[in-house]
Amino acid sequence: MLNKMLKDAVTIAIGGHIRPDGDCVGSCIGLYQYIKDNYKDKKADVYLEEIPDSFHFLKPADVIRHEIPADVTYDLFICLDCGDKGRLGFSAPLFDRAKRTFCIDHHISNKGFASDSYVVPDASSTCELVYQLLDEEKISPQTAEALYLGIVHDTGVFQYSCAEPSTFRMAAKLLEKGIDGPRIIQETFYEKTYAQNQILGRALLESILFMDKKCIATYITKKTMDFYGVVPKDLEGIVSQLRLTKGVEVAIFMYELEKNVYKVSLRSKENVDVCKVAGYFGGGGHKRAAGLTMAGTCYDVINNLSGQIEAQLDEV
Ligand code: AMP
Ligand code: MN
Ligand code: MN
Repeated sequence: MLNKMLKDAVTIAIGGHIRPDGDCVGSCIGLYQYIKDNYKDKKADVYLEEIPDSFHFLKPADVIRHEIPADVTYDLFICLDCGDKGRLGFSAPLFDRAKRTFCIDHHISNKGFASDSYVVPDASSTCELVYQLLDEEKISPQTAEALYLGIVHDTGVFQYSCAEPSTFRMAAKLLEKGIDGPRIIQETFYEKTYAQNQILGRALLESILFMDKKCIATYITKKTMDFYGVVPKDLEGIVSQLRLTKGVEVAIFMYELEKNVYKVSLRSKENVDVCKVAGYFGGGGHKRAAGLTMAGTCYDVINNLSGQIEAQLDEV
C-alpha cells in the first residue's frame, strides 16, 4: 500500500503531532530516510515542531522544517503518530492542500481523517506500523535507529503491555542492522539534564494522593518552569514516574500552557481507560496513556477529571 503510494507521488511531505515525542520523530525520520535511500527520484520533506535535544543524534533530523512554504502543494502528505488533524499543528495547511493524504497511526481515538489510513490501535507504536509497511531488506541503519527510538519511547523501554512478542521481534531485526540500542535507550530515554531532574523532583514532592489513594496528581506552573529554565519538552517522563507509585491506578500530570490553560497527561495501570476520560474533554490517545488541554485552575482540572475517573473506578 505504502509502496504504491510512494511510486505514484513525486513530492512527499511527512508530518506528525505537535510537541513531537520519540515515536513521532522516529517514525517521521525513519520513513524520510527510507524514501531517501530507496526512492532517489522523489522529493521528501519533514515538518515537525522543535524536537528534544537528545533526538538530534539522528542525523536526518537536521532536515526537519519548522515552517511551511506558502502555496506549495505536495502530491502526498503522510501523517504519522497523529490521531486527529488538529494535532498536526502548523503543518495542517499542507495536509489540506495535498493531492492525497495517508495516515499511519495507533491512537484508539483516530477516526480516519486522511484519505487513506493504516490505523492499528493495538500496535505498540507508529514506528512498528511503519516498519510493517517497509521492505525489511531495504531498511538502512539510519532508518533502523529512528524506528528503534520510537519503539523504545512508546513502550517505556519494552515495559508497557503494548510491547507484544512482535514488538520484540521487530526490535531484534532493527538491532541486527548494527545500531547501538543501549546508547539510544540511555541517552534518549533515561538521561536527563540537571534541570529536568530538578523539576521532576519538584513535581514529585508536590504531588497529592486522592480518591482513596487511587489517583496521584501534580502540576507545574509557567513560573516554576521559568525558574528552572525548562520548556514543555523537558517534562517528558514525569507522568510515568508518578504512575509508578504503589497502589495508584491513575496518574495526572499537568503544566501551564498559559494562564488557566493546562496541558494534561494521563496514565493508568489496569482499570481505567484514560482515553475515554481525555476524550470526554476533547483529548484522546490510548487506553493507558492519553492527553488533553483544559481551561480552568489546576483544581478545576483535577475536579473535572476526578468525576470521569471515579465513574470508571466505580464500575470495577
Ligand atoms: P502525552 O500525555 O502528551 O504524552 O500523550 C499521551 C498520548 O495521548 C500520546 O499518544 C498522545 O499522542 C495522545 N494525546 C495527547 N494529547 C492529546 C490530545 N489533546 N488529543 C488527542 N490525543 C492526545
Ligand atoms: Mn506520540
Ligand atoms: Mn505513538
